[in-house]
Amino acid sequence: MARIVMKFGGTSVADLDRIHNVARHVKREVDAGHEVAVVVSAMSGKTNELVGWVHGMPKATGANSPFYDAREYDAIVASGEQVTSGLLAIALQSMGINARSWQGWQIPIKTDNAHGAARIMDINGEEIIRRMGEGQVAVVAGFQGLGPDNRIATLGRGGSDTSAVAIAAGVKADRCDIYTDVDGVYTTDPRIEPKARRLKKIAFEEMLEMASLGAKVLQVRSVELAMVHKVRTFVRSSFEDPDAPGMGDLLNPPGTLICDEEEIVEQEVVTGIAYAKDEAQISLRRVADRPGVSAAIFGPLAEAHINVDMIVQNISEDGSKTDMTFTVPSGDVEKALKVLEAAKAQVGFDVIQHETGLVKVSVIGIGMRSHAGVAASAFRALAEKGINIKAITTSEIKISILIDGPYAELAVRTLHSVYGLDKK
Ligand code: ADP
Ligand code: ASP
Ligand code: MG
Repeated sequence: MARIVMKFGGTSVADLDRIHNVARHVKREVDAGHEVAVVVSAMSGKTNELVGWVHGMPKATGANSPFYDAREYDAIVASGEQVTSGLLAIALQSMGINARSWQGWQIPIKTDNAHGAARIMDINGEEIIRRMGEGQVAVVAGFQGLGPDNRIATLGRGGSDTSAVAIAAGVKADRCDIYTDVDGVYTTDPRIEPKARRLKKIAFEEMLEMASLGAKVLQVRSVELAMVHKVRTFVRSSFEDPDAPGMGDLLNPPGTLICDEEEIVEQEVVTGIAYAKDEAQISLRRVADRPGVSAAIFGPLAEAHINVDMIVQNISEDGSKTDMTFTVPSGDVEKALKVLEAAKAQVGFDVIQHETGLVKVSVIGIGMRSHAGVAASAFRALAEKGINIKAITTSEIKISILIDGPYAELAVRTLHSVYGLDKK
């Protein structure tokens, strides 16, 4: 007997038939004698609809500043998971399984106070464990917890993955299965490159980079938690027949295992390609080249919670003025421009230029640590396709390249093939 946490994403619970199908996956594990807790997302599209309602509320006449209350945002957007947790509990009950739904606050899953992007601080798994011992299946609403202000807090988009891994750590599960609409983690997004290959295993560090560089198959925080708490996490498909051979395999279920790099026997140089759309580039022209200027630029941006990514500072021609270029998410451009205009006196630049609709394509692989020339092959391959590179950043295990939006798919496919990742 094992203890298993099963998470089902939005497309897996998109309608009543699919929820019924999810119940069959759960039943398979229960019938095999395992203790099971389930985490669900909202039906696909639901969270977007709820977020749209929050932002679409007409303003009262005379109100000029946009009103926004992160606590009410959370109260509204967390509701999608409440519905699916209840529906799945009913579906399970109709199959004769003892099941009960749980909201984040009932467990409780305690978070910090960052409404809209809260972090899980603590989970009390005792009651869930006790009930699992009695044969009850807990169906937990993902994406939500209870903040220190005693109000519902949500974990950021894609946060149900994090709920699942955190619960798996909290109840000391043997395994956490993330069921989604693809049958594992691929060498790149299989929707962009049909030649992408499914990985049998991927190292935590690589998955962390893939997720933070745009592969939305797992929320970044869920990978961090799995790594820290050593949760055995699999990504697998909910669309396969729940009773197909091998689906109930305890040690080697179908899908991709996220694991320590030591567990990976045949390590490739490059493991995968990720991309992130909607990047924007901001350039400050003729900035005074003196100590403290970077702090004067990036300090106020950080205070405004704007995530600055790639930073390029040119060598100044005359030793007194330089250009500073960096990227931010497209959605933050207007805010960033305002912040920079306000800091103009301290920074002392000439003009600001900006460009939106850019894409960051990244090459990821632990094998890069010990191989030279990986970056050069990427640059050559992109040049051959006539793709212009706007900025580059590298770390030990990744290279990120900023390009124009319309070239995104071509760049992903080009890099995928240049490193031999295409399906044989
Ligand atoms: P869920 O609703 O189940 O949480 P998501 O839409 O959040 O599912 O994540 C699954 C999607 O992630 C896939 O449909 C796929 O298009 C995308 N994806 C991006 N990169 C990858 C990758 N490297 N491997 C697998 N899926 C990927
Ligand atoms: N429903 C939430 C979202 O769409 C959380 C999740 O699905 O993981 O972001
Ligand atoms: Mg997701």
